[in-house]
Formats: sequence, structure tokens, C-alpha cells
Amino acid sequence: MTTKKLLTPTDIWSAKIYSNGWRDPGLGTEEVTEKATGATLGEIGIASPEDVSVAAATAREAQKEWAKTPGPRRGDVLREFSRLMLVHADELADQIVRETGSIRAKAQWEVHMSAREILEAGALGSQPLGVLTASAEAGRQSIARRIPVGVIGVITPWNSPFILGSRAIGPALAMGNAVILKPDSQTPVAGGVSFARLLEEAGLPPGLFHVLPGGAETGAALVKEPLVDMISFTGSTRVGRQIGSIAGGQLKRVSLELGGNNPYIVLDDADIEAAASAGAWGAFFHQGQICLTAGRHLVHERIAGAYAEALARKAKALVVGDPFDEKVQVGPIINERQAANVDRIVADTLVKGAKVLTGGSPNGLFFEPTVLTGVRPGMAAFDEEIFGPVAPITTFRTDDEAVELANASEYGLAAAVASADLARAQRVADRLHSGVIHINDQTVLHEVYGPIGGVGASGNGFNHSTLTNADQFSEWQWITTRSHIPAYPF
Ligand code: NAD
Repeated sequence: MTTKKLLTPTDIWSAKIYSNGWRDPGLGTEEVTEKATGATLGEIGIASPEDVSVAAATAREAQKEWAKTPGPRRGDVLREFSRLMLVHADELADQIVRETGSIRAKAQWEVHMSAREILEAGALGSQPLGVLTASAEAGRQSIARRIPVGVIGVITPWNSPFILGSRAIGPALAMGNAVILKPDSQTPVAGGVSFARLLEEAGLPPGLFHVLPGGAETGAALVKEPLVDMISFTGSTRVGRQIGSIAGGQLKRVSLELGGNNPYIVLDDADIEAAASAGAWGAFFHQGQICLTAGRHLVHERIAGAYAEALARKAKALVVGDPFDEKVQVGPIINERQAANVDRIVADTLVKGAKVLTGGSPNGLFFEPTVLTGVRPGMAAFDEEIFGPVAPITTFRTDDEAVELANASEYGLAAAVASADLARAQRVADRLHSGVIHINDQTVLHEVYGPIGGVGASGNGFNHSTLTNADQFSEWQWITTRSHIPAYPF
């Protein structure tokens, strides 16, 4: 049964933070807004550095008990958490649409994918805790076992706050850790309150999970807090570098999932219409505000004209507007600063000689899906992560040149290659500097089973997936046992 009560602002959580129950915040409150209309949806508390310290101390105590709770029982709480996500799916999706400006299909996908992420995380609690290792010493029993990291600070961005929160919260709790979540203050309900409300209902013990909305001040306090053992950060490369350097100074474990400027390579034997459809999805889905967005369309010069024409046709047909309307396919840019940045990147690229095939004009937060041709390295649309609905097309003559262009970026998150010749596509793919590569698909793919993580300026080598989550959110401990103390030479 779908209820409407979970996220309706009430005295219980309005203008509060979640830290061992709902409490008054140290840094006042901020309005929560609907991005397409500017309407006020409610009010949220902003956590102060003192709130962070109190939360960390509480979380540390609660974590000790949680770590003793048998893994399958921890898994039971997560399975209930996942079930409740589906029970409240419509309400959660509504909130994601309003707060992030995402279209409904994306919001629903986020909720359902998150429910699966949490279900899979619950299963981690039933996995073996370690292994009996080999030992070269007779009489020594040698065990490697996983232990929780402790208190994990999770910092998430506004663009997909529900799935990006879920992918860290689930496995972190499953492995016996406590979590302090700091969602972006632009999306504090979809990215924060929703988890607290669901986990309360799922029966998570108090003090183990905290939601401390806020901006840079709150986030920086979480990173610096000595009682926080690990930071799991998803956001921009600029902030990731700052967090990495602070965490490095403290020798604190840190997972950085950062920006991307992802190449989508279309070889001259590709099906042009299919490649353009995939390219349109990769470029314009969620207004291009996804780390995995196809940010650079590298197209063989022989088919570039036809590809550009097909992509422009698809871009023009997209319905732009308030995503609460189900017909809308492209919603608003998150805020004015970000919309102005997209405008700057397009303008800079045009000044340097590129051409607009379609779009290019902002209308407040609503940016027309845009196709640019004649884009080369040195132009902003090639060099920078745009985070807007803009598809810059760059041509190449040889596969070597395609690889060189694709790798001409400090980022290395996702890449894709389209070709009718799989062996050729694989040869190109093998030379790409990228954490994720898709052959005959576009760049925006997400599954809980496939390890997502970036190289270079896109991340520091941690990955999110069922394959890697146990390693990411636990530590290995080596324990040996002998029946008696052996004799030593002195
Ligand atoms: P951002 O780095 O500005 O903010 C991300 C989070 O960090 C927010 O919660 C913010 O409040 C917090 N923050 C800001 N300054 C901080 C500081 N000094 N210390 C601690 N926390 C701080 O990123 P954004 O612009 O909100 O998000 C978009 C970026 O995120 C893009 O670059 C996108 O590519 C990236 N992203 C990456 C992935 C991935 O998995 N690799 C996924 C989604 C988004």
C-alpha cells in the first residue's frame, strides 16, 4: 500500500537534523525548494561542526553494539529497509522529482535501483566473515577476517541523492559500521530525511545512522572529525581533492567518486541512427547532470554529418519543462549558478569556432538540449565537465586519433565505443584510460553488480558494486592462534 505520510513535513522532522532522534540544528535552517517552480517544499536543519562531533561520539558507541549483532540479523534490517523503499516508492519518486528536477522515469529508476542496492547489501551480512589462510608454520592457525571500519561519513551530491546515498549506506551498515550522512543542502529530504524515516521504520537501533544536512562547513567538519574513521565522498573533483588531502593528513580511509568528462566514440561502421539514439540518451538524460554523462561525442569524420543531424533531430524533439508533468523529458538545471556555467561553456566554445546545430539558449533554469559541432581540444565544451544538456561533437580520422582524443582528459570515469566490428571496438576500448567502458552502448549505465569507479581525476580506485562493497566498507584483520607459546632463540 502506498502511503503519503513518510515525507510530508511534520513537527517530527521539519527544520531538524537526525542524530539519535530528530533534534534542533546548530546552524539554523534552510528552505527546501522544488527546482522547476521555486516553490517551498519545507524546511530542513543545517548541522554545525558541534553537531558533527556529537553525532560521531554517539555513532561510535552505537557501532560497538551493532558490530556484535550477527551479520544475518543486520541483513534483516536492511531487507526491511529495501522493502519499505518499494512500499513508499511513489512518494519517494515524487520527492526526487520535485527536489532534484529529475524526470519521473529517472526518479522511479533511482528508487527501484536503490531498493536492489540495499537488498544486495543485506546479503553481505550472510557472507563468510573470513578465511583460514595458509601458514608455513606447523601448529599455527592463521585466520584473515573482516572487521568493520567504524564510523563512516558519507557525503553525497544533489544530482542523484537517493541512489548515491543508498549505495554507501547499505553496504556500510551491512558490514557493521555506523553511518553519518551529509546530503547536499539542496536535496536534504530526498537525499537524507527519506533514509532516516525509512530506517526508523525498519527498526535500525538508535544512534547508528545520522543525517546532518549542510554545505561545505558541515562537510569539512565531518572530514576533520577524529571519531570518523572513513569518508565515502561522491561529488566534484575540486572538493574531492580537498577532502583527499585533509583525510590523507589524518591517515583516514577515503573513497572518492568524482567528476567525469566521458567520451562516446562512434566508429565509421556503427549504425548511425542507433548510435545517435544512444548518444542522445547519454547526453540529455537528467539534463546531462550525471557523472557518467556522455560529455564528448567523438565521431568518425565520414559519418559525423549524419550523426550530428540525427542527434540534433532527437534533441529538438525532446520536451523541456517541469518534470512533474509526465510528458517532460528534460527538466531544469539544479540552480542558477550551474545554469550560468553551462551557458559560459557553450559561449566559450562558440567563440573559439564551434557551431550550434540546435539549442544553445537558456531560459532560466531550462536549457534547450544542445548539439555543438566542430568542437576541438582547447574549447571549454571539450575540456570541462559541462553538467548540462549539451552534446559536443568532435571528429576523428583514425582509431588511433579517437583513442588519443578520448584520453585527452584528466578524468577517467566512463567511456563507450559504438561499432559493427566487435574486435575493432575492443581494440579501441583496451586503450582507453577509464574505470568503466561500454561497447555498443552509451556511458550512463548503472548496476549494483558492475564495479563503478573512476581513475585519474575521477576517483581514487574505490568501486561500488556487490563485487567490491565488502572490501570498501571493512578492514582485513590477521589473527593467528597456537596451542602454546613456541620456543624462540633469545
Ligand atoms: P560538490 O563537490 O560541490 O558537492 C558534493 C557534496 O560535497 C555536497 O554534499 C557538498 O555540500 C559537499 N561539500 C562541498 N564542499 C565541501 C567541503 N569543502 N568539504 C566537505 N564536503 C563538501 O559536487 P556537486 O556539484 O554537488 O555534484 C556534482 C559533481 O559530482 C559532478 O562533478 C559529478 O560528476 C560528481 N558525481 C560523481 C559521481 C561518481 O560516482 N563518480 C556520481 C555523481 C556525481
